[in-house]
Amino acid sequence: MKKSETPLLDQMRQLTGAPVGEPNTARDPVNQAMIRHWCDAVDDRNPVYTDPEFAEKSVHGGIVAPPTMLQAWTMPGLMSREEREARAPRGPSVLRLLDEAGFTSVVATNCTQAYKRYLRPGDLLTVSHSIEAVSDEKKTALGVGHFVTQLTCYRDQNGEEVATMRFRLLKFRPTERSAGAERRGAPKRSRPVPSINHDNRFFWDGVQAGRLLIQRCFCGKLRHPPGPMCPVCRSLEWEAAEACGRGTVYSYVVAHHPPIPPFEYPNLIVLVELEEGVRIVSNLVDIEPEEVEIGMAVRARFDEVEPDRILLQFERAKG
Ligand SMILES: [Zn+2]
Repeated sequence: MKKSETPLLDQMRQLTGAPVGEPNTARDPVNQAMIRHWCDAVDDRNPVYTDPEFAEKSVHGGIVAPPTMLQAWTMPGLMSREEREARAPRGPSVLRLLDEAGFTSVVATNCTQAYKRYLRPGDLLTVSHSIEAVSDEKKTALGVGHFVTQLTCYRDQNGEEVATMRFRLLKFRPTERSAGAERRGAPKRSRPVPSINHDNRFFWDGVQAGRLLIQRCFCGKLRHPPGPMCPVCRSLEWEAAEACGRGTVYSYVVAHHPPIPPFEYPNLIVLVELEEGVRIVSNLVDIEPEEVEIGMAVRARFDEVEPDRILLQFERAKG
């Protein structure tokens, strides 16, 4: 132990290089179907991944998997809480030591993958993890903490290392400022500005004027949210029809977490079915969440929630 090292750093450095948890073998071997889905999803049209004839004549001599699919092969899928707990590493761990020492916040800083060879259909990967390095205590803009480098090794069915990934994160002690800024009345954040485009401008202009406007095709079909084309007759022509503002609660959700400034919580979000027949997402105000019922009669109101910012909201209809 060097003189400069703290007991915590010494403990953590003793754990570097040791495996974290058990190695995990992929649920499926590298396969064409997953490669095709990946290529579709990221719009990668390199035929060496999907066209067997093309791949045969290429330098690879056959289909290979996109190297960036690496993590996809060993993903565990959705797990129940019990499964997750059963798989969690036991015993001392660097991250746990940091948590216990008060470095409870985490932010990922960078990730580097190295590919030693292309993967081919039939390869079956096993992944293992260790902590490669822990930095001295550093002062960062986020707070005081340690950078931790996690090393992940990918091996094939013969035990050959085919790729590595180094994932670096900062475990830091949250500062008073970051932990308590909102509580202590930091400048209030304003609400996000609606994203106004050619299709929905009439709606927001209507809200500013205290009117609830709905798109109506000349075939009679009403539609909301606004869009360019009638789903019934495919017409691009439409007019704005003013709704009466009366409706019923079709569905609702009470959002509690995570609180996102400047919204107030619990945040009561409703899907209102307007008398005209279309549904609209909004907030229901001046009511306790437990008083809300499906089918409850509501009516539109227009509130200036911030200077020059008028929003459509709903309230319980009286009588
Ligand atoms: Zn139409």
